[in-house]
Amino acid sequence: MTQETGGFAALELHPSIVAAVLATGYEEPSAIQQQSIPIILAGHDMIGQAQTGTGKTAAFALPILHRIDPSKREPQALILAPTRELALQVATAFETYAKQMPGVTVVAVYGGAPMGPQLKAIRNGAQIVVATPGRLCDHLRRDEKVLATVNHLVLDEADEMLKLGFMDDLEVIFKAMPETRQTVLFSATLPASIRAIAERHLRDPKHVKIQTKTQTVTAIEQAHLMVHADQKVSAVLRLLEVEEFDALIAFVRTKQATLDLASALEAKGYKAAALNGDIAQNQRERVIDSLKDGRLDIVVATDVAARGLDVPRITHVFNVDMPYDPESYVHRIGRTGRAGREGRALLLVTPRERRMLQVIERVTGQKVAEVRLPNAQAVLDARIKKLTNSLAPLVADAESTHGDLLDRLTADIGCSPRALAAALLRKATNGQALTLEAVEKEQPLVPTSAPRERTGDRPERGERERRAPMPLGEGRARCRTALGARDGIAAKNLLGAILNEGGLAREAIGRIQVRDSFSLVELPEEGLERLLTKLKDTRVAGKQLKLRRYRED
Ligand code: AMP
Repeated sequence: MTQETGGFAALELHPSIVAAVLATGYEEPSAIQQQSIPIILAGHDMIGQAQTGTGKTAAFALPILHRIDPSKREPQALILAPTRELALQVATAFETYAKQMPGVTVVAVYGGAPMGPQLKAIRNGAQIVVATPGRLCDHLRRDEKVLATVNHLVLDEADEMLKLGFMDDLEVIFKAMPETRQTVLFSATLPASIRAIAERHLRDPKHVKIQTKTQTVTAIEQAHLMVHADQKVSAVLRLLEVEEFDALIAFVRTKQATLDLASALEAKGYKAAALNGDIAQNQRERVIDSLKDGRLDIVVATDVAARGLDVPRITHVFNVDMPYDPESYVHRIGRTGRAGREGRALLLVTPRERRMLQVIERVTGQKVAEVRLPNAQAVLDARIKKLTNSLAPLVADAESTHGDLLDRLTADIGCSPRALAAALLRKATNGQALTLEAVEKEQPLVPTSAPRERTGDRPERGERERRAPMPLGEGRARCRTALGARDGIAAKNLLGAILNEGGLAREAIGRIQVRDSFSLVELPEEGLERLLTKLKDTRVAGKQLKLRRYRED
């Protein structure tokens, strides 16, 4: 067993849960997990102050799975989440962690889907119910006993639930559950309204908060970049083109991610390798030595594997996946700027992780400026600069060593020196794209931070059908469905269905235009075919969505 697996094993979770967690590639518990799991396992009520990105879902899901009895076919744990999107996400996380616990079933209960199958799944003995408060109250109105056997309650993102006006629903739900239950509350902030709930409904709760002591990081220039989760690899490839780095360390969360990113980089010709907890100690040392002496330029690592790594050549740290807490952010970026040198740290932030970015800024007392993904022109300029830099030193004496050969070749081929030089350039650049058009064709990405139209449903009077579609955002494809306003469709229905069934982040979806007899939706060009296949059987307002790529001409 490696030292890292000991991290989860030491938490005294059921072996089948530890096995499932390790199979997902987690190497060690995050700070919130380390602190919360023993408390929840011991049966205490708890208030956890943590936001998305800290690993809070596993912090409650793992001990709750440990505490339920899989042989009892009745609801035992209820997780309340503010939105359908989060409820589905949490339910999926439970399913992942329960993969090696036969007999455990999870049901997600949320609005916008028929109630019958949800109630049936509960009655069929799902032990874990993940629900939005509104829909759960609808179920309680039909069957007030539905929560009578639930002994564990988790309020996830409690502050968001209150903001969405679920206070009254929460009270109804509390009443429908046994008073002896265990209650765990997670919230990014603890305003008075949340403290009041805790006061009324939690018994002697333990408090868990990720310590956020101020840290200083001076010599390191920091920036962040908004990016969709499924576009991180493309974003890294593009950033590498323009960043002038000597050696670079890229941090990701899982072992699998180290392997995936390292092989994507190698495929592009970078000297890159993965460093994770599965790699034997002597092999790790070889990787680090190679990074030191320049046989490698990029190492893709998990936090555990990069601990203590001290390589003065490292000019850049890429935080490809968000760190779990500000301390580990500070620790990661401290891999650069060694020995008094300057360093640069880039952080990729997905839309849901914005809050974590704010926490990092608060703790480090520094603003982490936003930068945009380099555009095609910047990539082209960087490529030409590299070519210039590689050729410039050769020019000085090339004429004396190869001038005569040039004369002979131009004469033999019967071409101008310019034509021959151009042919040699083509050869030297190995077919690399060196025009703007060619660069633009490579990996189109959805700009995450560009201002975007709201997706609210505001049909304009009279002329819905005649209006020309708006110009398409960069990196997006327009798709069409034959469902429109006359089918009772509003933009929010389309948005909800695509978000949930397609597993996209909200920001990934561009404008939605609902017309009388059809609707247009802007979706990321990258991965579009896969997305459309995923949405193949999706229904909205009882009708098949049948989304297809739409071409204006
Ligand atoms: P959450 O804060 O619960 O939204 O989790 C954020 C992300 O971190 C999710 O994608 C999890 O799969 C991942 N994650 C949670 N715990 C760990 C861990 N101990 N090691 C690696 N990844 C984790």
